[in-house]
Amino acid sequence: MRIAMIGSGYVGLVSGACFADFGHDVVCIDKAAEKIEALKNNRIPIFEPGLDALVKSNVDAGRLSFTTDLAEPVAAADVVFIAVGTPSRRGDGHADLSYVYGAAREIARAIKGFTVVVTKSTVPVGTGDEVERIIREENPEADVAVVSNPEFLREGAAIGDFKRPDRIVVGIEDERAREPMTEVYRPLYLNQAPLLFTSRRTSELIKYAANAFLAMKITFINEIADLCEHVGADVQQVARGIGLDNRIGSKFLHAGPGYGGSCFPKDTLALVKTAQDYASPIRLIETTVSINDQRKRAMARKVIQAVGGDARGKTIAVLGLTFKPNTDDMRDAPSLSIIQALQDAGAVIRAYDPEGMEPAKAMLSGVSYGTSAYDVAEGADAVVIVTEWDVFRALDFPRLKSIVKAPVFVDLRNVYPREEVERHGFAFTGVGRATKP
Ligand code: NAD
Repeated sequence: MRIAMIGSGYVGLVSGACFADFGHDVVCIDKAAEKIEALKNNRIPIFEPGLDALVKSNVDAGRLSFTTDLAEPVAAADVVFIAVGTPSRRGDGHADLSYVYGAAREIARAIKGFTVVVTKSTVPVGTGDEVERIIREENPEADVAVVSNPEFLREGAAIGDFKRPDRIVVGIEDERAREPMTEVYRPLYLNQAPLLFTSRRTSELIKYAANAFLAMKITFINEIADLCEHVGADVQQVARGIGLDNRIGSKFLHAGPGYGGSCFPKDTLALVKTAQDYASPIRLIETTVSINDQRKRAMARKVIQAVGGDARGKTIAVLGLTFKPNTDDMRDAPSLSIIQALQDAGAVIRAYDPEGMEPAKAMLSGVSYGTSAYDVAEGADAVVIVTEWDVFRALDFPRLKSIVKAPVFVDLRNVYPREEVERHGFAFTGVGRATKP
């Protein structure tokens, strides 16, 4: 199949490279000339494990190429994917669909012959209808089937997720799209990937319902963690105790500083807005959004309490900035609000992250950056784990103890057992792991 992928960010680039790896001919397109320039020169503009080798091997094999101009690849394509951003619209929290609609107009002008146009971006219910309307308005001759095919990959594990998905959801209104969509995913089909065909609107809603459910699950265990601290229970044991029940499942039951990243915050908000527009509010998710918003500053208060209740002039060593490990994505990372709240309280922030420091520099001010956990911990009044990168999972506590100003350790990701940290002479604060009531 000939595939044009519009938008070469976290989703477009990974999807494009994986499709090429399945043997399809893929052209990845992006408006950002510097991204395309980097890709043409064998440089990957984002950090995603394994992506550099995957891109290189498929470029070398002649199946994957990059361009800023969509006209030629769209004209030649059997299937055109839209994988552009859908951030929160400033002011009202609805999804900003301007990039999707912009891409639809450009596609309409370039299209030749019957073409399947697939929205892979996360878009509210009804967007497929509007994409189809725009294409027909822009080019009444265009012969298209507009499909919804939301993406469920996770940054940091994106290639594995794309190649071995739990399910592939495809929403169609025009039966002609069924066969090409099956063909696009056929190499996965051999691995028995379940392809779920639905209506287009159902498919669009599945993506939001999935993300909202996961965000709610995280928020649930976070509130249980808070209760654990008050009643003298351990949230990790509670999570295990409930997670072993197959009806609940053990995933997404890790208490922490609140969910962040480029999807959950904007997608939960967009679902809330859609539901309100249809006078069918989803109060569970409205509450989830509000609890999660408040949680990040609450985490800063936890740190302030750990340094004795007053952070003014205290140096806090922050380990990890990205919203999760193995990505450089800083969008809506909890670290942003936690650091801001600590700075508001007068703290001095030194931070280290293996991949996130460059993007963080554009989003945070007044932070100094180090070269390792030990570099930033030197002379610190507290060491705080905000993101559980592997490199923070086996810290040398005697070394840490010898360089900090005060042995205070705050573990917002519950990486360490309390006893291990205390054994090395540190005061320990975790999430939902009280010693006694
Ligand atoms: P991103 O910001 O990394 O990439 C989007 C890219 O699209 C940018 O490089 C931008 O320059 C480009 N673009 C915008 N308009 C364009 C146009 N008209 N022509 C060509 N290129 C254009 O975004 P992302 O993280 O890849 O997310 C894309 C979509 O996928 C979003 O809707 C998101 O919600 C969804 N999604 C993301 C993830 C994830 O983990 N990042 C997972 C599942 C779904």
